[in-house]
Order: sequence, then C-alpha cells, then structure tokens
Amino acid sequence: MAETGFFAEGARVSVLTTEPIGKPLDYLAPEGGCFPGAFVEVPLGPRRVVGVVWGPGDGRFDAQKLRPVARVLDVPAMREELQQFLIRMADYTMTSLPGVLRLATRTPGLFEAPGARKIYRLGSETPDRMTEAREKVLAVLRDHGGAGFYQTELAQLAGVTPQVVKGLVAQGAVVEAEQPRDLPYPKLNPHLPGKTLSDDQAAAANALRAGIGQFGVTLLKGVTGSGKTEVYLEAVAECLAKGQQALVLLPEIALTSEFLSRVEARFGAKPGEWHSGATQAERRRLWHMVAKGGAQMVVGARSALFLPYQNLGLIVVDEEHDTSYKQEEGALYNARDMAVLRASLAGSQVVLASATPSLESWANADAGKYRRVDLQSRFGASDLPEMRTIDMREERIEPVHWISPSLVGAVLGALSRGDQAMLFLNRRGYAPVTICRACGHQIGCDHCDARMVEHRFQKRLVCHQCGETKPIPTACPSCGVEGKLAPVGPGVERLAEEVKERFPDARLAVLSSDLFGSARALKEAVESIAAGGADIIIGTQIVAKGHNFPRLTLVGVIDADLGLQGSDLRAAERTFQLMRQVAGRAGRAEKPGTALLQTFQPEHPVIRAILGGDEEAFWRAEAAGRKAVGVPPYGRMAGIILSGPEIEPLFDLGNALARNDGALRRIGAQVFGPAPAPIARVRGRHRVRLLIKAEKGAPLQQAIRTWLRGVKQPNAVKLAIDIDPQSFL
Ligand code: ADP
Ligand code: ZN
Repeated sequence: MAETGFFAEGARVSVLTTEPIGKPLDYLAPEGGCFPGAFVEVPLGPRRVVGVVWGPGDGRFDAQKLRPVARVLDVPAMREELQQFLIRMADYTMTSLPGVLRLATRTPGLFEAPGARKIYRLGSETPDRMTEAREKVLAVLRDHGGAGFYQTELAQLAGVTPQVVKGLVAQGAVVEAEQPRDLPYPKLNPHLPGKTLSDDQAAAANALRAGIGQFGVTLLKGVTGSGKTEVYLEAVAECLAKGQQALVLLPEIALTSEFLSRVEARFGAKPGEWHSGATQAERRRLWHMVAKGGAQMVVGARSALFLPYQNLGLIVVDEEHDTSYKQEEGALYNARDMAVLRASLAGSQVVLASATPSLESWANADAGKYRRVDLQSRFGASDLPEMRTIDMREERIEPVHWISPSLVGAVLGALSRGDQAMLFLNRRGYAPVTICRACGHQIGCDHCDARMVEHRFQKRLVCHQCGETKPIPTACPSCGVEGKLAPVGPGVERLAEEVKERFPDARLAVLSSDLFGSARALKEAVESIAAGGADIIIGTQIVAKGHNFPRLTLVGVIDADLGLQGSDLRAAERTFQLMRQVAGRAGRAEKPGTALLQTFQPEHPVIRAILGGDEEAFWRAEAAGRKAVGVPPYGRMAGIILSGPEIEPLFDLGNALARNDGALRRIGAQVFGPAPAPIARVRGRHRVRLLIKAEKGAPLQQAIRTWLRGVKQPNAVKLAIDIDPQSFL
C-alpha cells in the first residue's frame, strides 16, 4: 500500500494491472517519478498494459531485471480510499485483485484522448433581435460561465430547442469551439426549494440530513408512494451543499429517466448517468469528472460504485432488496453490501430505501447496526391498495385460460372507469414447456439442463439459461411423430392472447425484458404507458420495480403461488417482496387501488402475510425461522461452484474438498455436497456445487482459503466462490 508519498525515478514500485496474474508486479518508477495510485502504462511481455501504482515494490526481484514504467497517464491518481476499497472487496468476495480493478477501470476508451466535441460559450456580440428564448440561453451561459456546454445540455438547461442556440451562434452572441476534452457537468443547485414535506417526511429527511459528513447506514422503509425518493433527495441536497458527491443506485435502467427528471426538477440540472445504456463518450466523461470533482451526483447501476469519487458523501441504494444488486457473473458481489463497505472507508452515509427490505437489512436495523426511519403512509390522498385473494379452486375457468371470471370482472370494471389494469405473470415467452403429446418428451436445451421456452413472437424456442435458440420443430425430436408438440402453461405472450380475446377493445402493452431491443426502447414503452398509452398492461417482474403509472388502479396477479414452489431459502421473502411491490403499483395517484392475487392456497402463511397488514410480524416470523436453523442473516454461507466440460473431475475435486475439510471444521463450519447444481449443465459445462455453512462471526473467507490451498485443483475445473449466495442455481 501507499506508504510513501512519492516514488523518485528508479525507485521500485509495484503495479497492479487487470491482467489475470493475481497480484501486482514490480517495476521501476519512470523518469520524473510517480505518485502512489498513478495510472501508468507498463510493459508486460511484448505488450503494454494499463495499471495502477499500487505501492512500493517488494524488493525480492533483481533490480537489474526490472523494467521501468513506460509512462504515467494523464488521469487523476487513484485515491487511497478506492485502493483500500478494492483490496477489502477482493478479500471479502474472494475475487482476485485484477478482477476488482477491472470493475473500476473497464470503461472502453478511458485512457485515450477524448474525441473532439463542439462546445458552446458566451460570445462578444449582441444578437440583433432579443427573444425570451435567446435571453434564457445567454442567462445560462452568464450564470455558469467558464467551461461552456455541449449543445444539447445548454438547450436543455435553458429549456429551449437547439435551434435557438444555432441562431445565437450565427449572430456571434454564442461561440462554438472544437475542444478535445471532457466538460464538467452542469452545476446542481441544492438550495432550490424542494417539495413541501409532510411532517412524517420532514422528520425522516431531518434524520437523513443529520448523518451526512460521517459513516452510517439508515434503512429508509416506507410503502411505495410514501415519498422515499423525495426524502432521500433532501439528504442528497445536504450532501451537495456540503460540497460532497452523491451516488444513487437504481436496480433498473428503465427507472432512470423518471428519476433524472425528478433530480432536474429538484436541483435545476441533470446528474451524470452511469449504466450500460449510456454512451461510451458519456461514461468516459463521467469517470473523469467524478475524479476531478466536475460531477456532483451520479445515478447508476451497481458498477457506479467503482467510480473514482473525489469526495463521496452519500450512497443511496434504492429498492435495496432487489436481486439485481447481486452480480452473478465474473466477480460475485452484492452492490448493497459493497456500498456499505465503501461508505465505511470513505466516511459516507448510506441510505437503503425499500418498501419491502431484505431480511438482511431488516435484521441489521433490528440489531441496532443500522438506523431505521419509517414513512408510515402514502403521500397525499392515495391509500395502499386493497389486497384480496381469488381462490382458484372455486373459479370456473376454461381449459387453456388463466384469467379467472372474478379477475375478468375486475378488469372490466377498471376499464369502464377509464383506468388502467395490470396483469402480472413472472414468466417470459409464450409457454414455459413444450411437450410431445405422443411420447411425453419435453423439449430441452442441448447445452443446459433446462427446458426450452417457446417465444412465439420470435418464432423460436429459447433457453433462459444460456440464451441458445432454435426453431420450433414440427416433429418431436424424441419420437419423431409430427404435429403433436403442444405448449403447456402460460407465459406473458400467451396471456396476451387471452387478453385480446377477452378484452378486444382494450389497448394492450406487454412489458417483458426480452420484447425490447434496447433499454431505451423499454424506457419509452414505460413512459408511453405512464402517459396513458395502454389500457391493460401485462408484465413480468420488470413492472414491479418502481415505475409510476398514475392511472393504474387494478393489479391482478395471475399466479401468486409461483414463487412459493421450490426449496429456496428466500422463497417466502421473495414472494412477499414481489407481491407487495407489484400490488404497490396500483392506485398511486388520487384513485385508490385494488390488488387481486389468484392462488390455489389462500391459507398459505406467506399469502396470508401478504394480505395481512402486519409486515413486521412477517419479518419477525421469517427471522425466527432462519435463526432457528442458523442460516443468513443469522449464519453465514458460501457456495463453491465447480464447472467443466466433463462431470467426473468435478465430483473428484468436490469429494476431495469434502473429505479434507479440516480447515473449515476448525472454525465450526460444515460442508454440504458435492451435488449436481439444480441447473446441472449450462452452456455445455457441467456444474457441481458445495455449500458451506458457518456461524455468524466465523472467519469464513480465511478458512476457505486455507481449505482450498490444501487440495490440488486440476486445470480443467473452474472453481467459483460465492460468498453470501443469493441464488442456489
Ligand atoms: P416512493 O419513492 O416512496 O415510492 P415517491 O417519492 O416517488 O415515493 O413519491 C410518490 C409520489 O408522491 C411522487 O409522484 C412524488 O412526487 C409525490 N410526493 C411525495 N411526497 C410529496 C410531497 N411532500 N409533496 C408533493 N408531492 C409528493
Ligand atoms: Zn441452454
């Protein structure tokens, strides 16, 4: 680590690169020397790669053989706080250091000179004719002076069309320049007046504001529509007013556009956006501006956590219970937990916002580790939706239909009032199973242990594990009989057919991630629905996430039992969260909403908890159940996933690991397995799992390291470690 303040030319330095070598390598500081944290280019074999000066070299290598750093890049050095964060994260998640450095630097083009873009500044001429629109543009330029703006940004800030800017350029009142550098983001003004808060909200906002300036975690709990966003924006305001940077993590890109508009309304300009839908140029600009203090606020996906903030004061994790915060490929980490880690190193506040917190966060608040702030009611007139079950055992439902007569009646009622209705089914595609009526064969993926799902819209069968597709065959691949293949069960596309048949005059929108080519297209669909562009919305779980549809008053859940099947540790918690979230979509504006859950087991404890108002009772019961058996959050778990082209070496290694478990037993941990993973083959690779269970305070990672060192691992087997697994597939 950086103990020295500066490395003079020729001093030994260690440099971490993203190459899969495992650890930093020694080099000699270049001509002119370098600072710890500097981004540099170093020779590696015949190539040159980018790295970070990680600290002093370890001195074990022959100085004669060391090569000098090729050059220091013109990028702000990595701060010690980020370096520490990466080290601690690698340690906790058991990911390699190059692996975590990749998360912090993987923006393409990051270290190349920026492309030239036109920027606009105040000119010296006065336009011959002054209009209100022109005056607005000039006012923005006078107020913000200096660096200038990109055209779209300038027009947006002034609230005029780009044509107005062009007109001023023609007159010399605004000057255009080509400038090959990244511009700071327009300034956010935290002193603009926010909405007038209710007493409840004001108290919550005060509590959050008071925390800014030091480390701390608050669980902000409140039903959908209670104003959590309004409240945490006040914490953002306090953070900006103190000159610190704020980060808001959202689980879904489609949520960003509404959020950006709210930020603009509150602070007078838009924040920086960080997600896969942002252009490479924008991401590059944001990375650099975050490091130089030219971006006050970032809204983004989980990877925004790895940006080189200069002075991070606040991290908000919105919808903190959302499973998409867990990255399930490459470096396996939970962005919510890593946000808390980074905040503890940077001295920042964390706000975890949710209507249905994860049991982890609930338990941390319960134990007094996190503060808890509750918003009791929905803002304004809107009440929580009334929730009822439809007992499917009593409904007279036609074959190959899934909408019960009771639900049909409720939808017709909503439509006749001019309201929107939403039908929720968490299954993409047309039908989850395609079966041969002659031999009973179900069509599976050739590369995975999974059934293929018919997607009629794409006219193909799709494997939801690996993405492999194939045409829908006419003959059964097993018995060869023609014309006997039939879809079984509903997906959203099939449900759409039923809706068209039942409600032929209604305008229908289907929201399923696979039906949109891009995040932008999905965003547009959501906006159009919010503006009233559909009467009935069919959706998968993407509709559960925070979208605001003011005219929606009825939510019908097609199969409330779906998530309760299976033995997943979190099945009850997930179903509870999902159902409450989906139901929360109904009745967000003035009109009250209703949520109807179709179920074959209305007396199931989870279904009853969903309907019953007593959420705390549900969490207490769920917590007690997990405590009794010592599973998270009252115990620790780690998954070991072995994968490879052949199954035998996987079991050989798995068994060897299970036999040599001394290091784990010494900390009181148990190993289960090896067993074939529930999805035993993905992309042609077999998968075998081991599960480790330990007590809460046990030094699990350390024990796993010792344990794995004691067993030789063949090259043909890939071993992945999943600390705190969320999914057991
Ligand atoms: P949540 O984040 O808890 O779902 P939001 O902050 O999105 O809730 O608030 C729900 C709706 O109510 C939003 O349209 C928001 O603008 C509005 N709202 C919340 N609090 C206020 C307030 N104090 N004054 C005016 N509108 C508010
Ligand atoms: Zn597959």
